[in-house]
Amino acid sequence: MPEQQSSERPLWQQIQPGGIGVNPGSTERVQTGDWRTEVPVIDFERCTHCMICWVDCPDASFEVANAKLIAVDLKHCKGCGICAQVCPVKCIEMVPDSAENRETTDVNSGNGASSESAR
Ligand code: SF4
Ligand code: SF4
Repeated sequence: MPEQQSSERPLWQQIQPGGIGVNPGSTERVQTGDWRTEVPVIDFERCTHCMICWVDCPDASFEVANAKLIAVDLKHCKGCGICAQVCPVKCIEMVPDSAENRETTDVNSGNGASSESAR
């Protein structure tokens, strides 16, 4: 068991398991992306495809192909910005939710990294 940090907050390894989501529940059926104010735009030139954003996104909004991040599904992205916070290379920028910015990032518009470059 790892040592307790000097602060009063426990390490994540010391926290007992709580509620565990074992499947996406209703996420696939519910469009959670209709009340956001910002959308994530990914600089795929800098993305290292570490998938940390994919793991931490609360709405499973990232599209993956061939083990590479390729786009965001804005039907589900609620614009929380967690992905931009956790990205280790800071290649996700949260920008205002506009038609132009949606076009840039949304998998449903056919944009994002091409499946060719995702290989
Ligand atoms: S802003 Fe990022 S983390 Fe939040 S829902 Fe959208 S893709 Fe997921
Ligand atoms: S966290 Fe950043 S670098 Fe990692 S896959 Fe997501 S966008 Fe790419």
